[in-house]
Amino acid sequence: MPTYKAPVDDVMFLLNDVFHMERHNNLPGFADASSDVVEAVLGEAAKLCEEVLTPLNRVGDMEGCTRHDDGSVVTPNGFKDAYKQLVDGGWIGISSPEEYGGQGLPSTLTLIVNEFMCAANMAFAMYPGLTQGAIAALLAHASEEHKKKYLPKMIAGTWTGTMNLTEPHCGTDLGLLRTKAVKQEDGSYRITGTKIFISAGEHDLAENVVHLVLARIEGAPAGTKGISLFVCPKFLVNEDGSLGARNGLSCGSLEHKMGIHGNSTCVMNYDSATAWLIGEENRGLPAMFVMMNDARLGVGLQGLAQSEVAYQNAAIYTKERLQGRALTGPKFPDKPADPIIVHPDVRRTLLTIRAFNEAARALIIWTGLKADVGHRSSDEKVRQSAEDHMSLLTPVIKGVLTDTGFANTVLAQQMYGGHGYIAEHGMEQFVRDARIAMLYEGANGIQALDLVGRKLGKDGGRAIMAFFNEVQGYLKEHASNEAMNPYLKPLVQALAHLQQATMWFMQNAVKKPENGGAGATDYMHLFGLVALGYMWCLMAEAAQAKLAAGATGAEQRLNAKLVVGRFFMERMLPETVAHLARIQAGAGSIMELPADAF
Ligand SMILES: Cc1cc2nc3c(=O)[nH]c(=O)nc-3n(C[C@H](O)[C@H](O)[C@H](O)COP(=O)(O)OP(=O)(O)OC[C@H]3O[C@@H](n4cnc5c(N)ncnc54)[C@H](O)[C@@H]3O)c2cc1C
Repeated sequence: MPTYKAPVDDVMFLLNDVFHMERHNNLPGFADASSDVVEAVLGEAAKLCEEVLTPLNRVGDMEGCTRHDDGSVVTPNGFKDAYKQLVDGGWIGISSPEEYGGQGLPSTLTLIVNEFMCAANMAFAMYPGLTQGAIAALLAHASEEHKKKYLPKMIAGTWTGTMNLTEPHCGTDLGLLRTKAVKQEDGSYRITGTKIFISAGEHDLAENVVHLVLARIEGAPAGTKGISLFVCPKFLVNEDGSLGARNGLSCGSLEHKMGIHGNSTCVMNYDSATAWLIGEENRGLPAMFVMMNDARLGVGLQGLAQSEVAYQNAAIYTKERLQGRALTGPKFPDKPADPIIVHPDVRRTLLTIRAFNEAARALIIWTGLKADVGHRSSDEKVRQSAEDHMSLLTPVIKGVLTDTGFANTVLAQQMYGGHGYIAEHGMEQFVRDARIAMLYEGANGIQALDLVGRKLGKDGGRAIMAFFNEVQGYLKEHASNEAMNPYLKPLVQALAHLQQATMWFMQNAVKKPENGGAGATDYMHLFGLVALGYMWCLMAEAAQAKLAAGATGAEQRLNAKLVVGRFFMERMLPETVAHLARIQAGAGSIMELPADAF
């Protein structure tokens, strides 16, 4: 049975030594998040994840969810108790505004706790995760009346949230959606239509489910310009906040799927269900984007989380499994064979996963802190630069962390040999669970197109220029630090590749968009490598400084950081060359064959 230990030490190193979170203590919420408080909060989260959620991961996988004839859905044994513990601990609203019952702590803490939860039990973590996304959308776009009605219960966790976009004939292309909304005299709407693949659409964890639904108001224009966002609760809510009549919506069936069995993936039927408009008519997609962006970061986290838990178990296994002898002669002559961790290829595999995990965690925290500072700052420029950063990095985090996260679960499974294929070790579950993250919240090919087609050129390229300036400025500032050479020099090259690729698109993809489409996925991964390489420079610099200052007790961990960082720079970052070559090859051979030749 797999185990999990939440990486609290690594997170504290990032918050304290790499990103100096205390610098933001002048901002609301940050003053209450001193290092001691954060460490205590994360310690509690770790306990919940390690002791309660981890043991339920396999149970959830084996049992799955069950739908009864009346449309009700039962979650796996133990999920209800675990959810109650999550609610009792106030975990869902740790970063939500205090005026609606949250604790107002920086959202970065929620990201960190969510990594722990997803690693412990991804299917379970999706129930509160979707609620947090729905909370974000309501906070940004709902009227005060609706905020007061829904947010306190959702933040407490007594009600959960969902997002209803997908329909049988449309996933990526939401402009095709058919779910219909008809305005009533009292200002409410009646919604009719079928949504599919709705995560946490129906379950037994909470008293009410608050659905955020995209639908087209009667007479609205076709395409994405005619889509509106609605709030549509499972139980209508009375004036005094108590639950009223059952609304006209139900779970028609559950999908049978490859992984995340513990999460209910529902076909939701809306049959003249009562709903209320959120935001403006026909402006539903931009409003839903708040939830989608939140969810995309959350899905990126899922990739990292599965990679982390898979790594931890593979590392343990490779120290126990005895096969063959070290190339330099027996390391454990008293044993029948050496543990497989002596083999360079096994170490290469483990380091490939770990070097990604540690940098990906840094990338999430770096981005999370920028967003937090942006949201809480009164300085317009700071807010804008944070928004630019989030908008640019969201598709990179979603696409790269989930593509690589999935690949890493396969690598970790490989460390078990044939045993990795056998269910009881849990490695094949990580592979199956991680796979969905590449598909939902916009398949990864779409993330790459979003990056190349929309984000690069947005506002005259302001966001990408700010990213280049930040990394270039850092490289320049530290150029004379010789100890940093093993980290800085490879990043100089990788950044040049990213800049060349960006320039190539400007010269070759504007008139011929297929060149952009053909190179988008490579560009996203090239960008990801540079961003992760930058994270490694920041981490190496912090580790060196801490070691120089005499980091008693942490020497081994910090020295390991430096070695893992060197591995990334020597063996992973050079992949930027191949990405650049593929981008510059253009769309030629890709578009040449007619469709019927495939
Ligand atoms: C387990 C699970 C849970 C889910 N949870 C939710 C949920 O809670 N709420 C919700 O609304 N939806 C949910 N979804 C739906 C999910 O977000 C969609 O499946 C996803 O966005 C892709 O849509 P699609 O399946 O219709 O694929 P399609 O849109 O048909 O795409 C098929 C393939 O074509 C590619 N493609 C499509 N258009 C283009 C283009 N213009 N250029 C290049 N490539 C293109 C895509 O990248 C993809 O690889 C869930 C799905 C699953 C499986």
